[in-house]
Amino acid sequence: MRFDREVDVLVFGAGMGGMTAALIGSLEGLDVLLCEKTTQVGGTTSTSAGTVWIPGSSQAARDGVPDSIDDARRFLDAEIGPRALAVRDAFLAAGPAALDYLDARTEVKFRAPPRHPDYHPNQPGRALAGRALAPLAFDGRLLGKDFARVRPPIAPFMVLGGMMVGKDDIPVLLKPFASWRSFAAATKLLLRHAGDRLRFSRGTRLVMGNALVARLYYCLKQRDVPIAFDAKLVTLVRGKDRVEGAVIDIGDKRQTFRARRGVILATGGFAPNAALRAEFMGNVPAAHSNAFGGASGDGFQAARAAGAAVDDDHVSPAFYFPSSIHKTDGAETVYPHILLDRAKPGLIAVNQDGRRFVNESDSYHDFVEGMLRANAVTPSVPAWLICDRAFMRDYGLGLLHPGASARTIERYIADGYLHRGETLIALAQGIGVDAKNLAATVEQHNRYAVTGIDEAFGKGGTEYNQFNGDPANKPNPCLRPIAQPPFFAVAVYPSTMGTCVGLATDGDARVLDGNGAAIAGLYACGNDMASLFRGVYVGPGITLGPALVFAYRAVMHLASNAVEAGDARKRISA
Ligand SMILES: Cc1cc2nc3c(=O)[nH]c(=O)nc-3n(C[C@H](O)[C@H](O)[C@H](O)COP(=O)(O)OP(=O)(O)OC[C@H]3O[C@@H](n4cnc5c(N)ncnc54)[C@H](O)[C@@H]3O)c2cc1C
Repeated sequence: MRFDREVDVLVFGAGMGGMTAALIGSLEGLDVLLCEKTTQVGGTTSTSAGTVWIPGSSQAARDGVPDSIDDARRFLDAEIGPRALAVRDAFLAAGPAALDYLDARTEVKFRAPPRHPDYHPNQPGRALAGRALAPLAFDGRLLGKDFARVRPPIAPFMVLGGMMVGKDDIPVLLKPFASWRSFAAATKLLLRHAGDRLRFSRGTRLVMGNALVARLYYCLKQRDVPIAFDAKLVTLVRGKDRVEGAVIDIGDKRQTFRARRGVILATGGFAPNAALRAEFMGNVPAAHSNAFGGASGDGFQAARAAGAAVDDDHVSPAFYFPSSIHKTDGAETVYPHILLDRAKPGLIAVNQDGRRFVNESDSYHDFVEGMLRANAVTPSVPAWLICDRAFMRDYGLGLLHPGASARTIERYIADGYLHRGETLIALAQGIGVDAKNLAATVEQHNRYAVTGIDEAFGKGGTEYNQFNGDPANKPNPCLRPIAQPPFFAVAVYPSTMGTCVGLATDGDARVLDGNGAAIAGLYACGNDMASLFRGVYVGPGITLGPALVFAYRAVMHLASNAVEAGDARKRISA
């Protein structure tokens, strides 16, 4: 085989997994090339909330919410049972070291919010804070003209033509006159954004996943790590006993690169790929995806062709959001209902029978699991989120922000996204839901709102439910009567945010073959690697956390061959 070029490490995919691997590779003194098939960095990571779930970090201790790895282990035992233990142990052992490594040497920095509960907070060992870390905000102006290389978040997560809004910004922007502090904070945000728009195509005050991607990109640029854009992995080059390199289309030129130390796949899993979804998700009615369209299974397929085994031992093949679908002028927006509406007081979800089927304030993934279970008995895809006028005013529904104007409401009704009825019966008839049952369901829900106890599904019954509710609403932050006409409904469908099925690996992210042996020279991280959580959505940040940690472990494994043997491994266990 003749190679056009040689490097130590080839990394494919410039999302969380790939950018982290390339950055750490460079810090370890390796000659790295990061290949990204599009013209921007970020993938799905850039549209995410950017939360990483990494137990026992020094960042959590520093921020006053210490967490323990032993507690996390007990929690995972309760949640998942004794499955994928080698990979889980490797994750738990290396997580704090990986974060400290980045914190000490780079601008990739996280903080631990004072409260961010695991999703099943009644389990032993759960954390209410300290396990889920958020990236620090980033000033996109530091990237200069390369700011345009950062993939933007999806449009509904921005306001005023490109201003990112973090969870903490929402109250300030909704009620700027609530106090002098709110007013000052809102004014600062708006002035900054106005200034940005004179120079940039969108706001440069970046938060969540976009801040994380921009931080990684900034550090890669600081270190002059080469990034080949428009550079697509085509196939892996498999030698006699290892993966030797890869065939890459760079622009319109096909080239073959040798990777002396190894190839790291981080092309984002296969959530948007309908054929692979059909292969691994059977008849799950989840035709839509929130993942970036470019994360379409290239690394996964290339590895399979090179002899890699697929790990499909998961209770769910993918992680899901309930999403509403908005279609206009041929464009489709898949809007994930993550936390802004479902858990708030005064909303229920019903199926075609007009009956509730789930605790609406549980996590997005658990909501969809409930929807799929209900659908096996009664048509529940789509399900309908139902609320009244007061809810629309206070919290908004899907694409409609709180206090949406009458004009906006009419526009979304006209294009079929939003439905309205002067009575519950009229609303039910308009959306094809059993009207008598819907009226009875709402009546029952309203009784629960008065007592504060949802006897049917326990809405608002856990710390996590309450975290996303409205603390000002009493007695239950997630329950309020649905009583003020007109009534509104939006349809939600299961959509894949990412895949759990992925390449089988060991604890060093080495890809395994059908006999369980590591394929020398081949690593996977991010969603190309099978999820260690086995399809159970245990808490916020469970895809980006492992993406970071296994990028670190993969590189340390590579580097331990390259530098002094054992040196990097010692750092992992330290
Ligand atoms: C709205 C939303 C919010 C989310 N919030 C969170 C959260 O807070 N925490 C969390 O843990 N998870 C979250 N997720 C999920 C998370 O974003 C993804 O699981 C994660 O970003 C996957 O990272 P990755 O590095 O594997 O892939 P990606 O970030 O998707 O990056 C993959 C990259 O590979 C490139 N690529 C694809 N094929 C090739 C090829 N052949 N050659 C070269 N490059 C290629 C793609 O173009 C892309 O840039 C969220 C998802 C969504 C949609």
